[in-house]
Amino acid sequence: MTALPTHPEVAALATGVLARLGVPDPFDPGGDLACRTPVTGGILGRVRGHRPQDVDALVGRADHAFQQWRRVPAPARGQVVRELGQLLREHKRDLGLLVSIEAGKILAEGLGEVQEMIDICELAVGQSRQLFGRIIASERPGHRLMEQWHPLGVVGVLSAFNFPVAVWSWNTAIALVCGNTVVWKPSEHAVLTALACDRLLAEAAVRAGAPDDLGVLALGAAEVGAAVVDDPRVALVSATGSTETGRAVAGRVANRFGRCLLELGGNNAAVVCPSADLDLTVRSIVFAAAGTAGQRCTTLRRVIAHASVADELAERLVAAYRSLPIGSPLDEGTLVGPVINAVAHERHRAAVEQAVAEGGRLLHGGDRVLADDAADAWYVQPTLIDMPEQTAVVRRETFSPLLYLLTYTDLADAIELNNAVPQGLSSAIFTRDVREAELFVSATGSDCGIVNVNTGPSGAEIGGAFGGEKETGGGRESGSDAWKGYMRRATSTVNYSSDLPLAQGVSFG
Ligand code: NAD
Repeated sequence: MTALPTHPEVAALATGVLARLGVPDPFDPGGDLACRTPVTGGILGRVRGHRPQDVDALVGRADHAFQQWRRVPAPARGQVVRELGQLLREHKRDLGLLVSIEAGKILAEGLGEVQEMIDICELAVGQSRQLFGRIIASERPGHRLMEQWHPLGVVGVLSAFNFPVAVWSWNTAIALVCGNTVVWKPSEHAVLTALACDRLLAEAAVRAGAPDDLGVLALGAAEVGAAVVDDPRVALVSATGSTETGRAVAGRVANRFGRCLLELGGNNAAVVCPSADLDLTVRSIVFAAAGTAGQRCTTLRRVIAHASVADELAERLVAAYRSLPIGSPLDEGTLVGPVINAVAHERHRAAVEQAVAEGGRLLHGGDRVLADDAADAWYVQPTLIDMPEQTAVVRRETFSPLLYLLTYTDLADAIELNNAVPQGLSSAIFTRDVREAELFVSATGSDCGIVNVNTGPSGAEIGGAFGGEKETGGGRESGSDAWKGYMRRATSTVNYSSDLPLAQGVSFG
């Protein structure tokens, strides 16, 4: 454990970073949004947010921009995203630092998040030349049948605190090349990083000679998000957050026949088989469960280990957890930073208590460390609990570094345990047996959107489609064909003959 920096030190760092990112003085003492850093728990300043009634005009601006933007050829739209990627490269360190200051993730992960933004920009620029439709063989002579992909309109992006900038970029880079504009309601816990991204996108648009308002910020808490969700001009609502939020959003969007892309909570497991390479498995588990202080949607929350390796694995995990450096995310040696706030800490504490009441045995951690009782900074020891079975608390997502250990004897039971939770985001199996690996990734294996072999469930490359099933919401973002979610498909039949044959050979008159 290392000592925490003082609040004035972190505030000074934030001021310098914001200035270099082109957001010199965002603060207004009368602002309703407190920008807090989980590093010290102190307030960096206050920002004036929007009111729900402001959202009409914000969406109006994005809708106006859309009317021009959809006329720009897709490869030319890609130029804005190319410029954005370039600006992100130039500002990678500062934006990564700001992510660490505002979300509390360690600097290596803050920088990794910005790298992910750069990667998605590259992917989207290429995608701007590949918005392919199909030509389908028509059954009628002299006819061409084809699919075209057209822009949707305004995309509303609601994002969570734990990936304050990457989630915006996954959505925005793809939405823009697809010809849409974006209204972004960032997390109320990550206002400063949102201001910085908004500024970088505006500069990218100027450099590329694109219209204003391709991206519009709506700052505030859930009620501002709800106003975005309810606006009928928002053609697609892409919501990243808890399952509870997703349920509220999906119902409202469905009611107005809008489209939703949901990226919600996960409760990810790793099955450890008798033949697993335990060195690799332990390293994978520790990163996936304790990294980002357990605050990734893909964080590993359950280990399902074969009885023949469970004891050794538990011993090795306890040893690894004991040596994890907890401390300021701004210190290079730290691997575990703070959880976001007191509520997150209380949920962690309550889950540990419930797990023990449900028969669990605390193997390591659980205590609050570093900050004194008066401080609003919440550092918790990553926690390991051995569970006799998959009880209620294990089936729930607790968004903190809390890992449950379960045991199995028959792989079919392990797969059943993996699947017997309401969420379906990510999963992994550690084995050297090809039959076990293939079974796990098969249709009768893991029911998750992400299924890994010999690598942990957390983190993903942007080239694949990212998302999960069941209460994770079913959405797909990022690579592969996820771009189709940001466009509307038109099936067109062109008759270039002078006859009028009807489909299915129907004769009419
Ligand atoms: P959250 O659900 O509290 O908030 C997410 C966003 O939704 C915020 O911007 C919030 O203001 C907004 N919001 C909340 N209620 C709303 C409503 N009724 N209408 C409109 N907007 C509303 O989530 P959080 O605490 O910031 O993030 C943690 C959660 O997000 C975890 O459950 C995590 O698993 C999930 N998450 C999922 C993914 C994924 O890709 N599947 C990625 C990151 C985080």
